[in-house]
Amino acid sequence: MTQDLSPLAAMDQAHALHPWTHFDSFETEGAVVLTRGEGVWLWDDAGRKYLDAVGGLWCTNIGLGRADMAQAIADQALKLAFTSTFVDITNAPAARLAGKLAELAPGDLNRVHFTTGGSTAIDSAYRLAQYVQAARGFSGRTHVIARKQSYHGSTYAAMSIGLRDGDRVPEFTYKSDTIHHVSAPILYRRAEGQTEAQLTDALVAEFEAKIAEVGAEKIAAFFAEPIQASGGVLVPPQDYLARMAAVCRKHGILVIADEVVTGFGRLGAWFASQDVYGFTPDMICCAKGLSSGYQPIGAVIFSDALWDDMRGDKWFTSGYTYSGHPVACAAALKNIEIIENEDILARATRAGALFQEGLRSLSDLPIVGDVRGHTLIGCVENVADKATKRAFPDEVDIGRRVTHAAEARGLMVRPLGALNVMSPALIISDSEITQIVETLGAAITAATDDLVREGIK
Ligand code: PMP
Repeated sequence: MTQDLSPLAAMDQAHALHPWTHFDSFETEGAVVLTRGEGVWLWDDAGRKYLDAVGGLWCTNIGLGRADMAQAIADQALKLAFTSTFVDITNAPAARLAGKLAELAPGDLNRVHFTTGGSTAIDSAYRLAQYVQAARGFSGRTHVIARKQSYHGSTYAAMSIGLRDGDRVPEFTYKSDTIHHVSAPILYRRAEGQTEAQLTDALVAEFEAKIAEVGAEKIAAFFAEPIQASGGVLVPPQDYLARMAAVCRKHGILVIADEVVTGFGRLGAWFASQDVYGFTPDMICCAKGLSSGYQPIGAVIFSDALWDDMRGDKWFTSGYTYSGHPVACAAALKNIEIIENEDILARATRAGALFQEGLRSLSDLPIVGDVRGHTLIGCVENVADKATKRAFPDEVDIGRRVTHAAEARGLMVRPLGALNVMSPALIISDSEITQIVETLGAAITAATDDLVREGIK
């Protein structure tokens, strides 16, 4: 056990198994115990202050420490802390939130199925897709297609639908008989000389081929994050998703947009599918920014057309104790009210332009191969050789090195393989954006200096 940990960190190290953790690193380093947050700022139990460029985990959209959020949560907890929403019971915040989400969602997406987070929204969407396909007379449509480098959550189905490098381990099993993957749109690593339009054509052709191989009559749905966030902030060619959605329509395949990260203002819109990428999905999965992380909650918002086809004298046998949890729904409602009243979508668009411009100023650093992002999601991809885009060997762990150098300078950025990813709260100020860019630049430079000293670079 590590000697210089605080009592809380030591207790954590002695007893906790963190999500997505590395055993040896945890046993040697322990965890940072965060104790307070305000806006984009965090404090740990030693009083150290950090600028949180990660936004929690892509989720603190309105920023931390809001008294009005705490009040809304406390009021609801006092009034009615819990009811289930099973069968024919509901509560006021759940009913209001369903109505509000129907108002905000595009097209005829007017039906809401609440979940406990993003993973359970994905699982529920998969079930809903099968259910409606069966109701339409296509009970053979039980398969789904998703993309490589996607992350859709950690439950059994969600983890099987996602497929990021390194996530799958031999100790676990994944469902594979009904889940298929096609290539992700990776602009930075596309073939030499290939245009964006050619890349899109190739991806659409691959999708068509996969559908033909599996058989359209077996496929219920296609899952897609508008921007593949945890898979490396993969910003697609502008018309790629609309073209993939058109292929789905042609084959009777439902389109499920995983907007767990991209929803609620991250790209300057309530939802990115229609407003940013010009396609209307059949279902939107959301979580994270839905409550800005103040309460755990997720939802599947789906179309009237689906509802009309699935309803009848039968049961929908899926859902969770905490689906439509009144306190979580009250937090989400307040969060949405704040986004509306404080014009946070427009602010995110403006701050996002500054953030993207700032990040791009890091492109000249000797190990920064690519800078990409959209509005308030961004990343730097660190490479050993910029000309050839050659990656660092895994053991160099460049993303983590940069993150450690940033943390030592009071900045939290998330390592993701060779990348450092960011998604700060949407209320971030101009000077805080400047601070992220300058500190990240200094951290990358310090990490590069270390590599030179160690003879790696
Ligand atoms: N979908 C996407 C795109 C995500 O990024 C995540 C979480 N990072 C999830 C689903 C799963 O959400 P949760 O962790 O709330 O279950």
